[in-house]
Amino acid sequence: MARINCEVTKCSHNKSGICYANCVDIVGNSAVKESQTCCGSFLNKLLYSELTNNVLSSSSCDCLKCSVETCTYNDNKLCSLEAIQVSGDSVEYYTQTSCSSFKHQ
Ligand code: SF4
Ligand code: SF4
Repeated sequence: MARINCEVTKCSHNKSGICYANCVDIVGNSAVKESQTCCGSFLNKLLYSELTNNVLSSSSCDCLKCSVETCTYNDNKLCSLEAIQVSGDSVEYYTQTSCSSFKHQ
């Protein structure tokens, strides 16, 4: 199963709903709700075209860093979940994405 499932199809790292970035940074200091988190690794496909060749891994992205220390699943700035869901409709800027797996402590 993919580590990062993502519905942000306008991102250069997205291929068929799965993230192929080398590493993903989820951000959102002191977030208390999902909308206050976002994917800092989003790149707009219109500007960067497709970047789904993960050079660190032969498959999809399994490197997941996260600075959202108010999330139950955050363990020393790493995500302890086996898989997460990233969301965002008609995204143009990374701030319009969010981590749907976020759960406030
Ligand atoms: S928005 Fe983030 S999680 Fe989704 S494909 Fe892009 S880099 Fe990966
Ligand atoms: S589930 Fe929580 S710890 Fe994991 S990436 Fe999302 S916000 Fe970060």
